[in-house]
Amino acid sequence: MDAAGGPTSVLVVEDERRIARIIELELAHEGFAVVLATDGVTGLRMALEQEFGVIILDLMLPGLGGLEVCKRVRIHKRTPIIILTARDTTGDKVAGLDAGADDYVTKPFATEELLARVRAAIRRGETRAEELACGDLAVFPAARRATRAGLQLELTAREFDLLHFLMEHTDKVLSRDVILRRVWGYDFEGETNVVDVYIRYLRMKVDEPFGSPLIHTIRGVGYVLRRS
Ligand code: CA
Repeated sequence: MDAAGGPTSVLVVEDERRIARIIELELAHEGFAVVLATDGVTGLRMALEQEFGVIILDLMLPGLGGLEVCKRVRIHKRTPIIILTARDTTGDKVAGLDAGADDYVTKPFATEELLARVRAAIRRGETRAEELACGDLAVFPAARRATRAGLQLELTAREFDLLHFLMEHTDKVLSRDVILRRVWGYDFEGETNVVDVYIRYLRMKVDEPFGSPLIHTIRGVGYVLRRS
């Protein structure tokens, strides 16, 4: 089930129609809602635009390859990714995991094994989605709630989205452009200093009352959320 109680969606990015069809049928039989993309560019766009419980990603794809899709999804999202490929050398597995994949299934695969890995990846993803923490700061995405030192933080919708995004990328320096695109959207046409303005709002609520700042400015680059 997804957060709204509907079936969990699975994105399958696979250009071999026969294999895609088999996976689609098996997943649908298990009660998942399946979305299919047959090339890397479409798969990447769908992965970024929609929320999936897991992404099953072929490596050899027309257009944009699976490894590149995986890396680009990971810049923005933590959706679990299972790489599915005929390649089975250790180097390919390492490259897949380095690109941010969570798991790896080699073709030909047993359907039961793929389904078991899908279920496990979704479980891990859900646990991941339940709570994000950095020091004594916690964010509960499903409830859209945040606390620091156990105290509820009163955040506007945009402040929450910004904090959630920073928390998803703890310890990673994020540029204003990346923050703007991901929190305000690709079609936002205002000034990039809206990011600075909202960071200031967040600091007043998240950091200042608690003494030890978690939101740090990286001069000339952007912002990072980390313990020190
Ligand atoms: Ca392929």
